[in-house]
Amino acid sequence: MTGSWTALAYLVAAVCFIVALKGLSSPRTARPGNLVGVTGATIAVLVVFLSERPDNVPYILAALVVGGAVGAFSARRVAMTAMPQMVGIFNGVGGGAGALVALLELGRGDGAQWPGLAVAAFTVFIGAVTFSGSTLTFVKLQELMTGRPLTFPGGRPVFIGVVAANVALGTWITLGGALWVAIVLAALSLAAGLLLVLPVGGADVPVVIALLNAFSGITVAASGYVLGNSLLIVAGTLVGASGMLLSRLMAKAMGRSLANIMFGAFAGPSTLGATTATDRPVRSAGPEDIAILLGYARKVIVAPGYGLAVAQGQHALRDLAEVLDGRGIEVAYAIHPVAGRMPGHMNVLLAEADVPYDQLKEMDLVNPEFKTADVTLVVGANDVVNPAARSAPGSPIYGMPILAADASRSIVFLKRSLRPGFAGIDNELLHDPKTTLLFGDAKDSLTKLVAAVKAL
Ligand code: NDP
Repeated sequence: MTGSWTALAYLVAAVCFIVALKGLSSPRTARPGNLVGVTGATIAVLVVFLSERPDNVPYILAALVVGGAVGAFSARRVAMTAMPQMVGIFNGVGGGAGALVALLELGRGDGAQWPGLAVAAFTVFIGAVTFSGSTLTFVKLQELMTGRPLTFPGGRPVFIGVVAANVALGTWITLGGALWVAIVLAALSLAAGLLLVLPVGGADVPVVIALLNAFSGITVAASGYVLGNSLLIVAGTLVGASGMLLSRLMAKAMGRSLANIMFGAFAGPSTLGATTATDRPVRSAGPEDIAILLGYARKVIVAPGYGLAVAQGQHALRDLAEVLDGRGIEVAYAIHPVAGRMPGHMNVLLAEADVPYDQLKEMDLVNPEFKTADVTLVVGANDVVNPAARSAPGSPIYGMPILAADASRSIVFLKRSLRPGFAGIDNELLHDPKTTLLFGDAKDSLTKLVAAVKAL
């Protein structure tokens, strides 16, 4: 394949990636968008084989087969609720691969000029930070260790010291340092990634995943510069920019600044509350009583959360909404941007059950409507309706915009116990005189409610 054909194919692949991103911005176009992205990636891989005359073809093919098999297997097996961990680990692998490529290029030492050496050193640094940071987010989200912020005395100076040492080593490499300097840089960068993520806790982990996603994109773009491959630069820049935008949007949705999320815990001890269930009284009822509340309402707003995904209750929820709709009751779904465990989790979950997309209302749009709702049905959600976000300075979710469920005339919670949500703090709304709890698995409770409303 000649140079101009290669350049043209790369251009087509780059356009595919941009169109894919556009497609992924709406649930209606996400599936075709994904396919366009896959097409772009396939073109890119084929062109590399046709144009670059890669050495070690059998090894590359073997790696493609093994990587493809692991990817396909995990994509089929992973539960929706474990998707953030998977995204986290994939980010890490991308960053680690970029760092290894740059290390190998530095090892070849084929007379690169200082700008090339500087970018290679940067790639080692950011790639290794992404790898270790993402691995740690995986371990935290998989609950293999505590999700609480882990700080230690002198954490901030140690982190600054490690980063300063990395800058010094990067400068050394740029001036022609040997391979061992790059290896020390990689090791210290791995430590920097751990130090970056250790103090981030609880509800802030998703933002860090988005940020590490941006880092993995930057690593790919930088390794594209190191390898002289324009497509890697374009693809990496797209991932880097979209990851950065997503991090900012999520930080905004949680009412925090990115800097506060990343470095807040260095400033003091953990602010996470108690994780023990409260023993204060609450009002609970059976499905028949809740069915009367729902079946004679005029307007019901559903606030879904992580527990709905755990229970896989989305189909039963749609059935309930249809039964209510059949009785002339207005039903809407209130979608909080960080409900669940990944951005867009509730949109994907409800789309899976064919919930009409126009019934899903974003938080800002739906919040003024709660005061006109007769019932807010909170299904497996907790933090995203917790008024502590408004009223309890010092709470880990203080400042996070929440669904104004407390403004509605009555509130019904479907959950299994009085245990708190992801942020580990009590929810005053559970004890509100307007609130009733229906204890049990969300899918079971929803199925019972469908039958009970039908029987009215
Ligand atoms: P929460 O984690 O606050 O609450 C989930 C609730 O679901 C719990 O109170 C739990 O109570 C209940 N639950 C769990 N399993 C079931 C079940 N089978 N049936 C019924 N109820 C169940 O979830 P939210 O969606 O309200 O809030 C999301 C939280 O996660 C926020 O703090 C957010 O910052 C964080 N987060 C968000 C991410 C994102 O990108 N969206 C990523 C990672 C974290 P019980 O155990 O009593 O049943």
